[in-house]
Amino acid sequence: MFIVGLFALLLPACLTAQEGRPHSVLVLDQSNLRGPFYYALSAGLREVLDADGRFTTYSENLDLTRFGGAAYEEVLKRYLKEKYRDRKIDVIVANGPGTLEYTLRWREELWPGTPVVFAMLEAVQLARLGWLANVTGVVIRNSLADAITSARAVVPALDTIVLVGDSWDRQSLFRHWGDEIPAATSGLKVIDLVGLKMAEILKRVADLPERSAIVYSGVFSDGAGTYYPPANALRLIAEKANRPIVVGAEPLLDAGAIGGHSLTGRDIGADAGKLVLRILGGEQAGDIPPITRDSRPLFNWKQMQRWNVSEASLPAGSEVRFHEPTFLEQYRWQSLAIVSALLIQAGLITFLLHERHLRQHAEMESNERMTELAHVNRQATTGELSSSIAHELNQPLGSILTNAETAELILQSDNPDLGEIREILADIKRDDQRAGEVIRRLRAFLKRTPFETRDIDLNEIIGEVFKFLSVQASARNVALYLQAAPGMLRIKGDPIQLQQVILNLVVNAMDAMAVLPYGRTVICRTELNGGSSAVISIVDSGPGIPADKLAQVFDPFFTTKTQGMGIGLSIARTIILAHKGQIWAENQSGGGAAFHFTLPLAA
Ligand code: ADP
Repeated sequence: MFIVGLFALLLPACLTAQEGRPHSVLVLDQSNLRGPFYYALSAGLREVLDADGRFTTYSENLDLTRFGGAAYEEVLKRYLKEKYRDRKIDVIVANGPGTLEYTLRWREELWPGTPVVFAMLEAVQLARLGWLANVTGVVIRNSLADAITSARAVVPALDTIVLVGDSWDRQSLFRHWGDEIPAATSGLKVIDLVGLKMAEILKRVADLPERSAIVYSGVFSDGAGTYYPPANALRLIAEKANRPIVVGAEPLLDAGAIGGHSLTGRDIGADAGKLVLRILGGEQAGDIPPITRDSRPLFNWKQMQRWNVSEASLPAGSEVRFHEPTFLEQYRWQSLAIVSALLIQAGLITFLLHERHLRQHAEMESNERMTELAHVNRQATTGELSSSIAHELNQPLGSILTNAETAELILQSDNPDLGEIREILADIKRDDQRAGEVIRRLRAFLKRTPFETRDIDLNEIIGEVFKFLSVQASARNVALYLQAAPGMLRIKGDPIQLQQVILNLVVNAMDAMAVLPYGRTVICRTELNGGSSAVISIVDSGPGIPADKLAQVFDPFFTTKTQGMGIGLSIARTIILAHKGQIWAENQSGGGAAFHFTLPLAA
């Protein structure tokens, strides 16, 4: 009773001690952990184990890609035996097919009865090992056929496969590809560069046929004693290759390959971790069926751009990595800001164009009004000048009459002098032309023409106005002087309108001087103002403009005359501004008003 009672008391404590002892997992890696694939695998395994947190994990790297042979194996075995003599190992994880073989050979001696989880064994390799006691693991599936499917996806109408890698017996992940070549490549030409030295490979891959793709299984040495991680070897090959490179392992994806059905180390490691947890949870390794982990179609976006491969042509379920964000994705806010700024700018431009259109329309209308008003002003001025016009017409008409009467008399004589008659007729003709010219000028002046510019000589058109005004001037006892700048003053302008300006200014001057008993003088001077414009001044000897009215005289309807309309100067200013000139008035120090205007010279 006592013994049974004691046993019952101690049993739970023993169980707790057994349960509480931290589990130990020994991870044996086949290859150098600095290699990205095994690193990812180990990371995936650790992630799962560390999440549980109850384990001590030991890890050893057997370095089987670079070392091998019975002596090496013996050294390894002795080393592990000594090192782990006092450590209880609960589960062994064998990463890589070579590691599994070694582990199985050593297990009875080093860790009898300890379950083994293999990570990464190809189905064929597993089958070759036969039935294994107390073993489970992760079976990988990465067939050459899948690699060829990837190659077909990236090269349309593929007809040639180029195999690049170390000899098949030196491969671990892709060893079985060697056996699959005949079945997987049927219907395709095969360029076999497997086992060649690096220098030779580099030469050959630079000159491959158009419809070919390279399938890269891994080069570990250059054949001359230098060993590299297969990703580094791939970088060298990709630099020279003239065709896309298909691979079967995730770390090769950013080493110059376009991608392909790839094994992902982290997934395989995580699968192995889950199996370890199940075993430590109490399941028998032999009862847990192996997990199968397929390669996944992974592709490199940058290489797809280089080889002009669209996502649509990739196998279903493909994952595209290293996608560089488009400009829009990368600079979303900046792009939005630029687009908004452009939109605002476009809106502003449209608004300004609309405004400009309105302004042009308004300018056209105001031009039309100006033309109309100028016409009215010309009619009024012509009315004022009607006496001089009549006089100008009377002169030739009078001579015509006198000449006609003289001719009649000559014809009445017995022996008419035909030579004299001819001269008289020539006189009549000239006088008629003179009268006709007066009428023509008057009609042109009174015509209601739109604003029109052409090349004109300012001296000439001012001379014409002065001729027109001469009769009126002498009738009003005014001395008119024209002091023209030598040569021509070529400007672009509307001759009728510019004549109207001169006419208005001279008539105003004559009006102003009406109060003077004598000494009525108007001088018109034309001068060059530098090389780019002409200045025209009309100066009179009248009373001048009251100082407080100097600014007002150009206002519409400003007049001091009982019969005045007050539009002459305002029209003159409008005309000069339309000719891109300026007009202003001042009083001369010696008395009298002076009006000046400038006009740009024609180029
Ligand atoms: P209007 O001749 O019908 O009065 P204008 O616009 O031609 O209209 O002239 C406006 C006013 O400017 C005149 O009424 C006059 O008071 C003044 N003015 C124009 N020219 C002279 C001048 N040469 N001397 C003095 N005053 C002048």
